[in-house]
Amino acid sequence: MTKINHSTLVATSSLQQRSLDTVWHPCTQMKQHETCPLVPVVSGKGAWLHDADGNHYLDAISSWWVNLFGHSNSYINAAIRDQLEKIEHVMLAGFTHEPVVTLSERLKNMAPGSLGHCFYASDGASAIEIALKMSFHYWLLRGQPQKSQFISLQNDYHGETLGALSVTDVAIFKQMYAPLLRQCAHVPTPDWRYAEPGESAQDYAIRIAAVLEQHVAENHEQIAALILEPLVQGATGMGMYHPIYLQRAREICNQYQIHLIADEIAVGFGRTGTLFACNQADITPDFLCLSKGLSGGYLPLSVVMATDTVFQAFYDDKIARAFLHSHSHTGNALACRAALATLDIFEQDQVIDTNKIKAAYLNKIAAPITAHSKVTNFRNCGMIWAFEVETKDADFAATCFQAGLKQQLLLRPLGTTIYFMPPYIINEQEMDLLVNGTLQILDSL
Ligand SMILES: *Cc1c(COP(=O)(O)O)cnc(C)c1O
Repeated sequence: MTKINHSTLVATSSLQQRSLDTVWHPCTQMKQHETCPLVPVVSGKGAWLHDADGNHYLDAISSWWVNLFGHSNSYINAAIRDQLEKIEHVMLAGFTHEPVVTLSERLKNMAPGSLGHCFYASDGASAIEIALKMSFHYWLLRGQPQKSQFISLQNDYHGETLGALSVTDVAIFKQMYAPLLRQCAHVPTPDWRYAEPGESAQDYAIRIAAVLEQHVAENHEQIAALILEPLVQGATGMGMYHPIYLQRAREICNQYQIHLIADEIAVGFGRTGTLFACNQADITPDFLCLSKGLSGGYLPLSVVMATDTVFQAFYDDKIARAFLHSHSHTGNALACRAALATLDIFEQDQVIDTNKIKAAYLNKIAAPITAHSKVTNFRNCGMIWAFEVETKDADFAATCFQAGLKQQLLLRPLGTTIYFMPPYIINEQEMDLLVNGTLQILDSL
């Protein structure tokens, strides 16, 4: 057996090779990296990522939709540094701390209705698990244990742990694990791309809400909750729908006594043009799940905000009536400070208003994309843009990703859907680069 001198190995082999040797990368067929190299990022600033070979990439998808105010944001950095000198983390059972309390108070003031009770976890999928368990447990406590089913929308994505995957409707993630999952009905999607020719997005949403109503009318005695991605179904290709569907869903849930769980993990914090997507329908869900942008994309943090009605059902002398669920890093102080700094920026920079101006600019310069012969369904909602590309390339997403890197763009198409979901600090010059680079890619197909 040859003896490996570890220090020379580390010095001579690239970061990419060391990564492939030991890091099992997410959502990746590792063998593809035999031909398609990893991008070894060494730093980031603003909307840009810098790699070890001196290349720069505009992060047009906010590093999987999490980053809001740029990489290495000096204001958020300072907040985390300050917190680091106080307390980095303490368990949240039996203990509390200023950042988690202030964050909960501020979220309560920002969220619609009476969503005043914040239960924390570290990632989006865990927040979904919590909302599902809380909903079921609530009905159990109210003497309706048969309400144990969940329904979600066709094409919904809610994460990839077993419970979250059960309510997800994405075949490529789900099919393999079907024997491990609970049955869940998926009602037809309100995504307007499915509308009949000539049918408006609003008319289609109303028609499809009637199918939801019929399903709920027939099955409500077994249903605990409807879970959905409000306004934009992200992971299946940025499907967008009319807010009237959310209004109808809220009414139907009220009428038949089932919970409404709003998964705003991707769309919360201004992505759809309002602070929360639910604001556009003027509704309050029973559970609001937030993550991704919550900490500005800095640290893993998620929260489930529950109504007072839900909270009160668990409030009792008996321990067994409590919500006995925990994650080791629940309410991590550093992550909460990053979240507080993120909320500060929203207020100081009037981000929601500024984003409207930026979105209008991007829509204006994107006219040649809309008009491109290979492009269909160009659509925009707040700070999300998407369109389908006509292509015979079976691996278009990978081809486009590589072509994007050559244009200094981090794009990661979903199938044949190219989307932009940039950090909110993107400026006009960067938007020009994004649109021009994308046009180059489209022309080269
Ligand atoms: C990303 C996402 C999740 C899962 O969050 P993770 O932190 O990746 O577990 C759930 N729901 C939606 C809508 C998402 O976009």
